[in-house]
Amino acid sequence: MSTGYVHVLVAVDFSPFSNLATRRAAEIARISNAGLTMLHVVDYFPEDVPLDVVAPEDEDPADFLHRHAADQLAALARDLGRDQAVGKVAFSTHSARHEIIRTAREEGVDLIVVGSHGRRGLAEYLGSTAHAIIHGADCDVLIVRAQED
Ligand code: AMP
Repeated sequence: MSTGYVHVLVAVDFSPFSNLATRRAAEIARISNAGLTMLHVVDYFPEDVPLDVVAPEDEDPADFLHRHAADQLAALARDLGRDQAVGKVAFSTHSARHEIIRTAREEGVDLIVVGSHGRRGLAEYLGSTAHAIIHGADCDVLIVRAQED
């Protein structure tokens, strides 16, 4: 029985915590010769403007947000020297955690890598996304702990 990972998924919110998790995930994928998917979930509530990034008037906001996040994921993959990583952008009116668990299940991922905290910083003991993924995922989960300083 092989014990190596085949498909690693890292949850990316572009925070310093998720950047650290992404580096760790890329390294694990490299040594395991596994595929790497980088997933960003856009919290999308069309009636709830403004969003973090505001679309130009002549562009559909969902298309704009998708393109903006896909560009950021591609830049991250380039910085890591992992151009072959798959960047995936999902929209959710529910929660990022729900979408991360669902995508991992759908794509047969065997390791989810997630930062211990996110864009809200170190306010909580463990970010709510990380917490929910440990409890909800069917596969191994690696929580990359933030450095306190
Ligand atoms: P949080 O629960 O916000 O403290 O975030 C903890 C970790 O969950 C982050 O470091 C990311 O790895 C992941 N995460 C949070 N929000 C998102 C998102 N919108 N899309 C993808 N990953 C996310």
